[in-house]
Amino acid sequence: MTTSREIHLKSRPAGMPRADNFEVATVTLPDPKPGEVQVRNLWMTVDPYMRAQMHEVSRYHPPFRIGEALQGGAIGEILVSNDPALKPGDLVQSVFGWREVFNAPAAMVQTLDTRGLPAQAFLGVAGMTGMTAYIGLLRIAALRDGDVVFVSAAAGAVGQVACQIAKLKGHTVIGSAGGPEKIAYLKEIGVDHAIDYKTEANLTAAVRRAAPGGIDVYFDNVGGDHLEAALTAARPLARFALCGMISQYNATDKGPRSRALVNVVGKQLCLQGFVQAAHGDMAPAFIADMSAWIAEGKVKWRETIEEGIENAPAAFLKLFTGENIGKMLVKLG
Ligand code: NAP
Repeated sequence: MTTSREIHLKSRPAGMPRADNFEVATVTLPDPKPGEVQVRNLWMTVDPYMRAQMHEVSRYHPPFRIGEALQGGAIGEILVSNDPALKPGDLVQSVFGWREVFNAPAAMVQTLDTRGLPAQAFLGVAGMTGMTAYIGLLRIAALRDGDVVFVSAAAGAVGQVACQIAKLKGHTVIGSAGGPEKIAYLKEIGVDHAIDYKTEANLTAAVRRAAPGGIDVYFDNVGGDHLEAALTAARPLARFALCGMISQYNATDKGPRSRALVNVVGKQLCLQGFVQAAHGDMAPAFIADMSAWIAEGKVKWRETIEEGIENAPAAFLKLFTGENIGKMLVKLG
């Protein structure tokens, strides 16, 4: 028997989640059964999409249950294996984040070949968030020569990769983010026009200044005012890859109606939402391209790391107050 700590959902947040919506629970794990493994997590990810699972009804992932451990991506090492294909010390990836140690059927964990990268990169640039940027730009927006690309939450996990993919494909990139440290980071990764939306009185005017001829592609991570600005600054036939709308995730009212949506008709804009999990067929191309780009130094990344399972809820909350640069991770090992 082993003890482990895990994070339970204590109550469903209304609006911005609070620390007391979560609790740290200590559980006793039995020895793993035949065919099972016991894994100690080394890293776990917190992601904005988890906010949707905190509602009683969730749009595309099953809702978290009150009084049970949350779920999400994690990387750990096998402690005990009752499966001949896995041995103690092997690195594995799973969806059993938010806990220090867990038991699971061996079929529910995937061995991780780090190919020389730090293991946690597979929760970010070389994993789900990197692939989201890849899908959004190359399949949904289908980048074309000469495109001017606008990326919001550009200094975050998805945004930092989207900016660099657009740059290495030869495009002019406008990135928006909140605060001077993020703006400095955007310049460091080659963004042509970095907009600090927190100090800009008029975001639309700032985007227009950066792209007087208009934008061809908008990679939306934020929604709200950013989407309004992009709709207004779009060139005719511009393509919008709607990846996420974090500014709306804690909204408790319907908010003002979009005034800029009318542009979709006259400018013949193409707006397409997407969920990365529906584009698994792109994984082999993503792995090949991203491995080469990282090896050639064309894609760099940053991480913001909190330590200890007890700090996982705080790490999650910081996504909504913008306290992360690059991928937000929790180190557990
Ligand atoms: P992230 O960008 O690393 O972190 C969230 C960032 O959003 C914050 O650092 C903050 O940056 C910004 N933000 C938070 N609240 C905001 C607000 N009210 N207004 C403007 N900006 C705000 O997170 P991520 O994991 O890369 O996710 C980015 C987006 O992609 C999210 O919308 C997420 O839901 C979406 N996503 C979608 C998929 C998919 O399959 N479609 C997959 C992964 C992620 P600033 O300081 O710059 O404001």
